[in-house]
Amino acid sequence: MQPARIYYETDVLNYELGKELYQKYQSIEWIEIDSHNNIEELRAKENKEFVSMKKLFILGVRKTHKYTENHKVSDYLVPYTSSGCSAMCLYCYLVCNYNKCSYLRLFVNREQMLDRLVRFSNKSERALTFEIGSNSDLILENTLTGNLVWTIENFIRDGKGNLTFPTKFSMVDPLLSLDHKKRVVFRMSLNPTYMIQNIELGTASLWSRIEAVNKMVDAQYKVGILLAPIILVDNWKVLYSQLLDILNDLLSKKMKDQMFFEIIFMTYSFVHRKINNDAFPEAIELYNKEYMTGRGMGKYCYKSELRREGEAFLQEEIEKRFGKNKILYFS
Ligand code: SF4
Repeated sequence: MQPARIYYETDVLNYELGKELYQKYQSIEWIEIDSHNNIEELRAKENKEFVSMKKLFILGVRKTHKYTENHKVSDYLVPYTSSGCSAMCLYCYLVCNYNKCSYLRLFVNREQMLDRLVRFSNKSERALTFEIGSNSDLILENTLTGNLVWTIENFIRDGKGNLTFPTKFSMVDPLLSLDHKKRVVFRMSLNPTYMIQNIELGTASLWSRIEAVNKMVDAQYKVGILLAPIILVDNWKVLYSQLLDILNDLLSKKMKDQMFFEIIFMTYSFVHRKINNDAFPEAIELYNKEYMTGRGMGKYCYKSELRREGEAFLQEEIEKRFGKNKILYFS
């Protein structure tokens, strides 16, 4: 993936990764900025320019390092080496949080971030699990920076506990030979092909994601499946049944024996709707006023009776194919 332009804080060039990226992308225009948080020129852009903004890279130094407690697959959410992503999932919660600025921001002070994580992990009496990929897609980012390989190698050597991250990409080959000591939990996010092609724009195909899952299990990683987000389009029951059939056919036995599911229903918002209507006028409408609560400028969620129906349906369909106790949680 080649960026169209790179915006960078001057300090970036004092870091090893900043220098490496400067060498790697010499042929591309570099534009100096004061702060990755506020790029005046980009803030002024129209929603319809969203697609071209996704082709930019923003390089900065991360200054916020606050970990947030989490009680799902990890103990803490860790702000790490990137935020945003160059794919364009129409529901991406980063779009909602950062509005149009959900382009890929890379933070070059990785030594500082890893050092803090290692020290934090070693201070704990029990082995904690750290979610390092909640603000971006680290498998995608790794193709640009090599950060994920670097992180696994260094954290597993110096830190205590486990790392985890989700992805919608399949470029896992650089991870397969790492000495991860089974302390990395890889979570693949899956959806039916119809949704990948029409809603998760720019992400990997279902087939390549399944192939990546099987490779990671073979490489002894712990691997889970995120059915996320569950999107209730008109024929959702058919689409999700077909997806579960495909998983039953194509996931390896080793994966099926050890896997777990996390199931997260889609939330949507006024901001998403506005950007999507302007940037992707041909895309399918994810807002459904029959199915969703919330009006006006806020967030929209599926109505509770529909969610209950969705949970019961998925529970039954998963049990039928993969047995009991495979679902970690619904959210
Ligand atoms: Fe957002 Fe993840 Fe899709 Fe990237 S791949 S746009 S981070 S949901």
